[in-house]
Amino acid sequence: MLYSELSETFDRLESTGSRLEMTSILAEFLRRVDRKDLRNVVYLCQGKLHPDFYPQVLGMADKLVLKAISFTAGVQEQRTEELWVETGDPGTVAERLIANKKQMTLFSEDLTLDRVVKGLLAIEGSDGKDSQDKKMKHLSNLLHDAGPVEARYLCRIVTGRMRVGAGDMTILDALAEAFATKEDRPAIERAFNVTCDIGLVAETIATGGMDAVRAIGVQVGSPVKVMLAERLPSIQEVVERLGGRCAMEYKYDGIRVQAHIGKDGVRLFSRRLEDLTSNFPDIAQALRTHCRSGEAIIEGECVAVNPETGFMLPFQNVTHRRKKHGMDDAVKDVPVRIFMFDILYSDGEDMTSMPYPERRKALEERFVLGGMVQTTTMRVVESPEEGEEFFNSAIAARCEGIMAKSLAPESVYRAGSRGFLWIKYKKDYQQALTDSFDLAVVGAFYGMGKRAGRYGALLMAAYDSEKGMFETVCKLGTGFDDAFLDGMPDLLDDGLSESMPRSVDAEMVPDVWFEPSVVLEVVAAEITLSPIHTAARDVLKEGSGLGIRFPRFTGRVRDDKAPEQATTVDEIVRMYSMQSHDSDGLD
Ligand code: AMP
Repeated sequence: MLYSELSETFDRLESTGSRLEMTSILAEFLRRVDRKDLRNVVYLCQGKLHPDFYPQVLGMADKLVLKAISFTAGVQEQRTEELWVETGDPGTVAERLIANKKQMTLFSEDLTLDRVVKGLLAIEGSDGKDSQDKKMKHLSNLLHDAGPVEARYLCRIVTGRMRVGAGDMTILDALAEAFATKEDRPAIERAFNVTCDIGLVAETIATGGMDAVRAIGVQVGSPVKVMLAERLPSIQEVVERLGGRCAMEYKYDGIRVQAHIGKDGVRLFSRRLEDLTSNFPDIAQALRTHCRSGEAIIEGECVAVNPETGFMLPFQNVTHRRKKHGMDDAVKDVPVRIFMFDILYSDGEDMTSMPYPERRKALEERFVLGGMVQTTTMRVVESPEEGEEFFNSAIAARCEGIMAKSLAPESVYRAGSRGFLWIKYKKDYQQALTDSFDLAVVGAFYGMGKRAGRYGALLMAAYDSEKGMFETVCKLGTGFDDAFLDGMPDLLDDGLSESMPRSVDAEMVPDVWFEPSVVLEVVAAEITLSPIHTAARDVLKEGSGLGIRFPRFTGRVRDDKAPEQATTVDEIVRMYSMQSHDSDGLD
């Protein structure tokens, strides 16, 4: 396949704003792609060469790409840099300069998809002392035979700027349209949720059809999208919602870890699919030693403990460990424990479709518990009073609150979904009307007065998972200390965008836009109808969205959460109704 066919498709995708149209462009294209190329095509639509959980990234610096463009197009570096300052995008620079370059037909070779993939893999794999030189040469080799549009996307891919709008949900829609039916869409999404590998799903559906897709199960080494909890405003409602009887577990305040225990080693993944193994080598080793199965996938919360008293410490202590470079010191200075709460797989058995009581029993049986490896404290509760009692003991043990879990036959592990099979209730709910929000930064406003010359406030958004869009809920200017204000450009500027990103829906216009990437924890006094914010626009009232009042940054950057794991618009709608319910005095 020629790479030009793919880049023309990227161009068509980019020029439409409609998700439906995007889906049909993509479906029509995927149908034509050779089976053996499907994986690569699907990854490249998202600017990648591998599934999300693969640790390597292309990440070439803009300056290096500009050098390759100058070299290939025979243009002075100064001219290339000027164009880059003007456009902010190496892709556009390449497109313009390559369009002007003299025809280099004499030695040119077809730019096939295979050649592009090989070239990109070579860029990714370049290391050692002349790695920068090698990367540049591999890229100019490809650019040499590229037309303007092909060059645009090559440069966007290598700099991590590939945003044609083909998000996971759009690709899954396109796969259903191309190879199955609308009714098969949930089964396709399930296969993606249990493997986090969109390339594998694409290849499977094209080669083996829906039967093969239905047979995809969890596998050691491929992270499973995590199951999430709903929230309710009182213990009474939690217990009633779960049929008057449920399991309650302590809700620990640490880092969620999904451990893939293999015969030869253990890999730990965060909830945003990053590999955490090097942050918790001691946990990885302890899990291997304590596990009675040859292979298993479990989930648990990694919590820091005070080495002297054995008491649990707040969340910040575990993040401190993630940032430490000298891991040997960190292992000693910040001892951690894992409190396991679920098992998804053990020795060939996919446990995600078993009900909770069976999974919990298996978890307890398949591990030797003690020391660093524990299970969460759990009790079966049969009344709101027992629930209150358990909640109080959780707070006394310095936990955030409780997680209530359904004991019903349908209480399976729902990968990637938030539902009422798990319900959280936290101490904060007793004090404020609302839980905290995890919001994505989509823009910034320059500061004034003491904050002149820095970003002074941020435009924050929630995620609408149906639409795949980030919708704004507040302008956040409180809770930043000087260190955070100074560090904002480092934290945010990688995501700078010339205009409102395609995945953002905002009416308030900030001074600069960011592609959603960074998630911050925010508390607020109240959720209100808002004429300017776009979250849940027209859902509760025509012409109004939902905004949050008096937002304040808690100091916690949720670097364990991807922007798509930010608080969703749906959750905010439910929190809003919970809140009016409270103020109606019906609680
Ligand atoms: P939240 O981040 O507030 O939505 O709460 C959900 C998170 O609580 C999960 O992702 C886990 O990291 C954490 N957690 C702590 N204890 C438990 C538990 N016993 N069961 C499930 N999740 C837990």
